[in-house]
Amino acid sequence: MDGRLVPGAGGAFETINPATEEVLGTAADASADDMDRAIAAARRAFDETGWATDHAFRARCLRQLREGLRRRADELRELTIKEVGAPRFLTFGAQLDAPVDDLAWFADLVEDYGWERDLGRAEPMGMPSHRRVVREAVGVVGAITPWNFPHQINLAKLGPALAAGNTVVLKPAPDTPWCAAVVGEVIAGETDIPPGVVNVVTSSDHALGARLTQDPRVDLVSFTGSTATGRNVMASAAGTLKRVFLELGGKSAFVVLDDADLRAACSYAAFAGITHAGQGCAITTRILVPRERHDEAVEITAGALAKLGAGDPQDDRTICGPVISARQRERIEGYLELAVKDGGAFACGGGRPEGRDRGFWIEPTLITGLTNDSRAAREEIFGPVLVILPHDGDDDAVRIANDSPYGLSGAVHGGDVERARGVAGRLRTGTVSVNGGVWYGADVPFGGYKQSGIGREMGVAGFEEYLETKSIAEGV
Ligand code: NAD
Repeated sequence: MDGRLVPGAGGAFETINPATEEVLGTAADASADDMDRAIAAARRAFDETGWATDHAFRARCLRQLREGLRRRADELRELTIKEVGAPRFLTFGAQLDAPVDDLAWFADLVEDYGWERDLGRAEPMGMPSHRRVVREAVGVVGAITPWNFPHQINLAKLGPALAAGNTVVLKPAPDTPWCAAVVGEVIAGETDIPPGVVNVVTSSDHALGARLTQDPRVDLVSFTGSTATGRNVMASAAGTLKRVFLELGGKSAFVVLDDADLRAACSYAAFAGITHAGQGCAITTRILVPRERHDEAVEITAGALAKLGAGDPQDDRTICGPVISARQRERIEGYLELAVKDGGAFACGGGRPEGRDRGFWIEPTLITGLTNDSRAAREEIFGPVLVILPHDGDDDAVRIANDSPYGLSGAVHGGDVERARGVAGRLRTGTVSVNGGVWYGADVPFGGYKQSGIGREMGVAGFEEYLETKSIAEGV
């Protein structure tokens, strides 16, 4: 905080390995006063330094941050596997290497971006004027993040917010404080980022996030988390009318058309659905298959899920590791019970895997026999639990896919690409994959329609969330 590593006034709290329940160590437990000091430091750094206007300096600092994190990649990889329970293979992508590398994209953008646009001369109401439009930083950003992909989400906020010239207070989730603290450590030790520009406030107390949303010194809140918390964030930010940017939950559909290669599509749906134990907001957790091939689709998907299983995240071959906490496991088990009460059945899984007495585990599970209006089919479970539903053709598949309060992501698989593309075009979601295409990347805006969020993260659209627009007219 404010350029230094400081202990938390609230003491320290434990961070736990979800695969083993081993206590890994402790993190600084910040108090409300610590948060107050962090906001003051960010405000001061924004108002009293040249950070916001020195584009070249910021680009250099972002590259230093990237290099600093890359130098510690081996240590960070082990930390991420242990603290997040992230399968090792994912740390070579979205759980670590990709978001670190992507900082370079934001550094380049600072240098290439059109910060100023000349609108030329005009004579509004007969008064000769020369007009310019300037883009500039919003000010102090409060970044609040979840535990599921901590590096991806922390850096997808820090990268563009800093590139745009803002200062930041980052409040990570209590489950993954180390992943965020290490970014603060690298910033303090290995970059020229001035004191106060980035303040990482780890805490066991969710209420510290709420303070960021209420404080008048914070200009923008960039939040990623559940839709329920997002609603609180928006309501609480209304008091000071600050800008809010929300990346929330999802219940995305994986649509298999009747001309698709059913085996390939359902095997892929199984893999995609339980990656990182299903703890991804954009994961496709409703599989929509042609009614006439429903039973065959169930057999293929259940077979693939059972084969993938849940395994040690340290193992290179593991796709589905543990879930983050006992609380999360309980929440998932609540949905499994609910699914059965609502008439559903398990084609595979449905409980805890055998032989895993320590750690927080749920077997890859496929629920059949539900309709799209059941709670397990509508609500975000955030575990390795998929629901399979029959559809009666393309129009019906689109109707079911869109019959959701969410609109984050989706996938369409079909033999005729034109037709699959047409169905994808009708999905009311922020991202769509057609026949296995991957939309994830620094240059691709990501975000939700409907109750999945407001605004976009990453890409130029994501960067511009962190900018104000100023129009200047000079009398001539
Ligand atoms: P969460 O909403 O419980 O918590 C997210 C963050 O908000 C944490 O840092 C928490 O401490 C903080 N927080 C809690 N209450 C707050 C309040 N009243 N005011 C301000 N901050 C508060 O979410 P989680 O359980 O950590 O993460 C899982 C959720 O995140 C899932 O719903 C998932 O879909 C969503 N998510 C969305 C995206 C996306 O980009 N759309 C990405 C990842 C995760």
